[in-house]
Amino acid sequence: MNVVLSVTNQKGGVAKTTTALHLAAGLARQHLKKKVLYIDLDPQRNGTDVLLKKSEFDAEQTVFHLFQGNPITSQQLHETDLENLMVVPSSLQLVEVETMLSNALDGFFRLNENLSPLVNEFDFTIIDCPPSLSVLTINALVAAKGIIIPLQASKFSVDGIHGLVNAINTVQKRYNASLEIIGGVFTMFNERTTISQMMTEEISQNMKLFKSTIPSSVAVEEAHLLKQSLYEYAPKNKVTIAYEQLTKEVYNVLQKIG
Ligand code: ADP
Ligand code: MG
Repeated sequence: MNVVLSVTNQKGGVAKTTTALHLAAGLARQHLKKKVLYIDLDPQRNGTDVLLKKSEFDAEQTVFHLFQGNPITSQQLHETDLENLMVVPSSLQLVEVETMLSNALDGFFRLNENLSPLVNEFDFTIIDCPPSLSVLTINALVAAKGIIIPLQASKFSVDGIHGLVNAINTVQKRYNASLEIIGGVFTMFNERTTISQMMTEEISQNMKLFKSTIPSSVAVEEAHLLKQSLYEYAPKNKVTIAYEQLTKEVYNVLQKIG
């Protein structure tokens, strides 16, 4: 299996980074022991900061290098504390990509093309998207086979879903016919509230939803601060167990669709 997954939602703060990190770590850990590559496409670099001790990188050591038109090499791959997990870090310079590619005919294809030399060396490549439907996110959707959509049970969150689904449909039609939504996952979720039940009903009309939902816990913020995954920081926490279940669910769905 060499699958590229994009964790996408143009809304900020819905747990894209947290979900991408824990899917990546979950797939790389003991049970599954898959070779995983995490790509940070958000210029805010939250995922990079959690996974890597070093904080300063030259542009050639980051994903920005790929957007400049260079194929990936070992120079952009950075090891983490987890044996099977490598990272292509983000760069603040990613904010320039929109302007840099505005006249480039291959603007939407840079990531896909320049990732391809190494993509077969990883069982899973997980792309953490920025909170926008920008050229960076479109590049992720062009490069991906599957999309995972973290969702919050709030009205504003649901309002944004139509725009996201439209963008995904456009990419499917024009650039990447094999792209599909693997599923939406509710994060920071409290199933007992009325709003959660209303939102679950509403969103399930637009996309498949994972059975796993992710509850809230301060352990998430604490683990990020300590640059650890929840698997190390709080192995028995309800969020850790929920991400473990989600990882299994994602893995099973991917095995079915190949
Ligand atoms: P995004 O990448 O979509 O902007 P993040 O993953 O950075 O979202 O999460 C946004 C904020 O919410 C972060 O401060 C993160 O620590 C916090 N957070 C994420 N998931 C949870 C959770 N399950 N419980 C509590 N806080 C969470
Ligand atoms: Mg993020």
